[in-house]
Amino acid sequence: MAERELAAFLSVHPANVRYLTGFTGSSGFLLVGPEVAGLVTDFRYREQASEEVPDGLPVWIHGDGWREEVAARLPDVMGEDAGDGSGVGFESDRVTVRDRERLEDAVPEVRWSGVSGLVEELRSRKSDDEVERIRRAARLGDRVLESFLDEVVEGATEAELAAELDYRLRLAGSEGVAFETIVAAGPRSALPHASPSGRPLREGDLVLVDFGARSGGYCSDMTRVFCLGAPEEWQRSLHRSVLRAQQAALERVEPGIEAAAVDGAAREALEEDGLVEHFGHSAGHGIGLEVHEEPSVSARSEDRLREGHVITVEPGAYLEGRGGVRIEDDVVVRPGGAEVITGFPRELREL
Ligand code: ZN
Ligand code: ZN
Repeated sequence: MAERELAAFLSVHPANVRYLTGFTGSSGFLLVGPEVAGLVTDFRYREQASEEVPDGLPVWIHGDGWREEVAARLPDVMGEDAGDGSGVGFESDRVTVRDRERLEDAVPEVRWSGVSGLVEELRSRKSDDEVERIRRAARLGDRVLESFLDEVVEGATEAELAAELDYRLRLAGSEGVAFETIVAAGPRSALPHASPSGRPLREGDLVLVDFGARSGGYCSDMTRVFCLGAPEEWQRSLHRSVLRAQQAALERVEPGIEAAAVDGAAREALEEDGLVEHFGHSAGHGIGLEVHEEPSVSARSEDRLREGHVITVEPGAYLEGRGGVRIEDDVVVRPGGAEVITGFPRELREL
């Protein structure tokens, strides 16, 4: 905040508010100043907020709207030294245009200043406790995926299978799902972000399953591909290439390296097998309270990997009209390299 000459910062993004305060409600607004910080929420969360936030962090219950409460509390939060024209930062990628106008109308004497990534950068490096939560989610995912494979049979539809997987995740203790589960089979496995359809599985299909559990608020994210029946040679070969690309990318992971180099390693390996033009998405992303967060692991990323980052490594190759393979694991960036925390076997299993 000092670097950006901000006398106060307003966080409205639930994942950032949760990270900074522990508050898990859907409507919380955190004001941070040099001496004072406080959480603005409404009557529904009065008790929950007091239980969740640390002692000493005031909870301000708003009656007429959170913007009005923020406006009323701002002078105290900014402190005495703040004069006219002091900067108040807000998350430019989270505050709507309308909210910004209303904040400016309510407190015109300060300089409202959109900032991006201030809390997200803090969030990207995980504490041991955060890594443990992601690890718990990953292990839960490993177990549930294994138990679910009995259901993957000819005639079952993608949508039924996705629903079954979600149900089993919840039964096993996952806090909902980390994101909309993908089950895509046959030619549809070549759609990297397919939503599960009513298409029944057929003998010979590649079946791509991409899903995540959630534990203590933290997400896992894993993709595996199976074959219904004995795989044909092109399916084996496609899977082998992607697995090799993933291995190459995993081997590049270490603190200090450019994230783009991890993406590059996967791309190089696929290039050697003539598949690079079939890999159209980035090789990974950070995971944590959100399923996509910093750092970005793409060709254009300007991020560097740092110790404590938790990222996915997920190259893929998609052959239009035939089928696709993606293999995705979650890894912690450690001084010695990648610690893979998703444990499910990666080979192409025949179901
Ligand atoms: Zn995924
Ligand atoms: Zn992912």
